[in-house]
Amino acid sequence: MLNIDCPYCGPRAESEYRCGGESLIQRPALDCSDAEWADYLYTRNNPKGVHIERWHHVHGCGMWFNAARSTVTHQIFATWGMTDPVPELPE
Ligand SMILES: [Zn+2]
Repeated sequence: MLNIDCPYCGPRAESEYRCGGESLIQRPALDCSDAEWADYLYTRNNPKGVHIERWHHVHGCGMWFNAARSTVTHQIFATWGMTDPVPELPE
């Protein structure tokens, strides 16, 4: 089981969280093409390595935050608030 460090509550068990998928996805402009909109809705990265994800502390403070997690080892390198700048991360 992962031990995830909520930026608001501190370290808690993975069972208190729900993953919301990839984070830092930019919404396209309102006049974008159908292909750009479809890409925004359905295309996600699936890297082997560090992945930036949204996590919800659903059984805790109820806040959403970002986490940088390795998809290979599940190691979490950093967690930060949704409006905070992205910290330095490994490649
Ligand atoms: Zn929390």
